[in-house]
Amino acid sequence: MTRTVSDSAQRLNAVREAMAAAARMARRPADAAQLIVVSKTQPVDAILPLIAAGQRQFGENRVQEAQGKWLDARNRFNDLRLHLIGQLQSNKAAAAVALFDAIHTLDRPSVIDAVARAMAETGRAPDLFVQVNIGEEPQKGGCAIADLSALLDHARGAGLAVMGLMAVPPADREAAPYFALLRKLAERHGLPALSMGMSDDFETAIQLGATHVRVGSRVFGPRAG
Ligand SMILES: *Cc1c(COP(=O)(O)O)cnc(C)c1O
Repeated sequence: MTRTVSDSAQRLNAVREAMAAAARMARRPADAAQLIVVSKTQPVDAILPLIAAGQRQFGENRVQEAQGKWLDARNRFNDLRLHLIGQLQSNKAAAAVALFDAIHTLDRPSVIDAVARAMAETGRAPDLFVQVNIGEEPQKGGCAIADLSALLDHARGAGLAVMGLMAVPPADREAAPYFALLRKLAERHGLPALSMGMSDDFETAIQLGATHVRVGSRVFGPRAG
């Protein structure tokens, strides 16, 4: 199937409109949540039309893939904001801090320490989120709910200001209760940002307080494979 440039730009606009409508329904400002377009696995050629349509925030799940893809666009568009939304290994922390403007996936002390070191060395200060394994799924990234307090303490001890929480609810269940739980955890810890909601549930997430939604397939069309 071939897609024209305007397909993804039109879908982008539809997502933006749905986001504003969801915010209005929740009596939140229309721009209460920021749209991160998830461009993982997408070639640069598929991303450029969205930049042309005004989109500036993009999410990638692999440091190495993002490095190659974004180097050139970074130089051409100085207001891009890149978000790391995939699991981070300590040995990639320096590269991640060098490239990304936000890291959504801090989930253990070793990664926090590595990010703190890279920030001290480079002077860069990406926005930081702790990922919570909100459905307590063994195969998923994110810290256990029971470990969240200690992990936030650890980040504070390392000199990091965590801005919010991020989560991916279980795929086969209704997302709303998990979003509500993540919000409660963020409130309990005084964290203002909530990175939650994807293609299938970003409207629900916005109604439940999301400040950042991460949307891929609703913009690009279904991913192959
Ligand atoms: C892939 C991905 C998304 C986007 O998923 P879609 O269903 O395509 O919108 C959001 N968040 C994370 C962590 C992802 O890995």
